[in-house]
Amino acid sequence: MIPGPVEFDPEVMRALGAKTASHVAPEFITVFGRALKRLREVCLAPSAQPFVVSGSGTLAMELAVANLVEPGERALVVNTGYFSDRMALLLTRYGAEVTQVRCAPGEAPDVAAVESALAGGRFKVMTVTHVDTSTGVLAPVEPLVRAAGRHGVLSVVDGVCATAGETFHQDAWGADVYLTASQKAIGVPPGLALLTVSPRAMAAWRARKTPVRSLYADLGEWLPIMEAYEAGRPSYFATPAVNLVCALDVSLGQILREGMEARFTRHRRMAKAFRAAWRALGLKTLPVSESVTAHTLSALYYPEGVDAGVIARVREQGVVLAGGLHPELKTRYFRVGHMNVVGPGDVLASVGAVERALVAAGHRSEPGVAVAAAQAELLRAG
Ligand SMILES: *Cc1c(COP(=O)(O)O)cnc(C)c1O
Repeated sequence: MIPGPVEFDPEVMRALGAKTASHVAPEFITVFGRALKRLREVCLAPSAQPFVVSGSGTLAMELAVANLVEPGERALVVNTGYFSDRMALLLTRYGAEVTQVRCAPGEAPDVAAVESALAGGRFKVMTVTHVDTSTGVLAPVEPLVRAAGRHGVLSVVDGVCATAGETFHQDAWGADVYLTASQKAIGVPPGLALLTVSPRAMAAWRARKTPVRSLYADLGEWLPIMEAYEAGRPSYFATPAVNLVCALDVSLGQILREGMEARFTRHRRMAKAFRAAWRALGLKTLPVSESVTAHTLSALYYPEGVDAGVIARVREQGVVLAGGLHPELKTRYFRVGHMNVVGPGDVLASVGAVERALVAAGHRSEPGVAVAAAQAELLRAG
């Protein structure tokens, strides 16, 4: 129950263990082409160009930055924490002039503050972290992306801890790049960087005056490959992670069979059950209010008298949790991921394990209150 890698479906794991096909075998071309089409559907981005490249989420971030900014161009980073800092670092590394709109850890970005920065900034791109994995904050992505669009600024949304878990309508909202990695709500072991890029962003990339500095991260190398796989033709730039792509196709198929709205709703329901349990235990969340709290993970302060040792106690109960990540608060909180195949059984097992570990660590609460609160919420939600 960590915010990635998450639990994976057995069918996805079977695809990973199957015999490895040639990257130009007709049957693999079919699978890769279908995975690309499915990625477009998962991001609700019928007009976007999908990219699947071997690497982690950080490579997906780097692909966006390396292709969309040229030295001296201006970028606005909506900074909510750890991975927004990484985005700013990447932008700086590629020569962008970076301005940041920051908020305190646990707070969501202020749309009006971003809007006024956009109005005065002559920015080429704005980046925002959909779910900040270091704080558990869900950013108001729709209004932010729409604001960027109104100011003619390209929007890059880091969805690594959100894509296929949090509501997102790329085309309808006008987001230019949605990027993620395989190991979070997409439900595939680590190793794939995934992006869907709008026609407007592709045009901005085509209009570059300077070459992309990284060869491996150049969309110019990958575009013909993605187009060929979708068209059913063999092609080669750099060997794809064949088995991971097969596993991706299986997982995206499962996601689409569940349906995007149903999947978003399930993530919201499970998150609500977790929140009811945390409240019953008297735990305080990092996000300052319910409306800015993510549905893909919980970030919780250790209660009075309890420290990070409790994570090991929870692990003894068979549930793996994550420690803190935000540099300012790292030692004061822990995180529980609830993405991908998470259901009522996972909620009750995890909440029960946290409850037992906290009580064993000396936290005072009535045995069973957390499980009862989660169960009541699960029953309420139907
Ligand atoms: C996990 C994560 C990343 C980094 O992904 P890696 O696969 O670890 O490189 C980037 N952004 C967010 C929001 C994340 O949660």
